[in-house]
Amino acid sequence: MRSSGLPVLDRLINELSRLPGIGQKTAQRLALFILKSDPVYVSDLADAMLDVKEKTGLCRQCFNIAEDELCSICANPKRNPAQICVVEDIVDIMAIEESHEFEGLYHVLGGVISPLSGVMPDDLHLAELAERVKEQKVQEVLMAINPSTEGEATMIYISRMLKDLDIRLTRIASGVPLGSQLEYLDTATIGRAILTRRDL
Ligand SMILES: [Zn+2]
Repeated sequence: MRSSGLPVLDRLINELSRLPGIGQKTAQRLALFILKSDPVYVSDLADAMLDVKEKTGLCRQCFNIAEDELCSICANPKRNPAQICVVEDIVDIMAIEESHEFEGLYHVLGGVISPLSGVMPDDLHLAELAERVKEQKVQEVLMAINPSTEGEATMIYISRMLKDLDIRLTRIASGVPLGSQLEYLDTATIGRAILTRRDL
């Protein structure tokens, strides 16, 4: 790393460059922007970063990010609790919500089964999913899992886990190319994939 000659600035550049998608050049540009910014803005930015860590936890029902025991989606009486959309990560909820095509609740697995990376079914929120589907009056489980090899294996695991229950099991369909990641798809594509979901 090229040094700016100012240890405080180097430290900020170094911290920023650890963010996903931020290379050394962008980190330098952001650090200089912050350096030149109004102190009120910089203080608000730092507060917002601390708040998101200190004032949030995971929803006890779906493992989405939440400011209370339940996330804003689980706590919303207008959502349909008979439909659960299973996703890998919180970022997938954001992408699906933007499409406005799903009115049910979510369930965040926290990843996909990947024995090579040491991720086993017990490491994910799979048992909690089975419990939710059994105990609540769930009619449909829609799997919006990225169609990677691990994603496919995870979907097979879920369909086996839920096979004796009287529910409709679906997966998002056309429009999601193999190996693509939900979070990078445009909202129209995600919306279409939900509408054209297919039964398993
Ligand atoms: Zn929730």
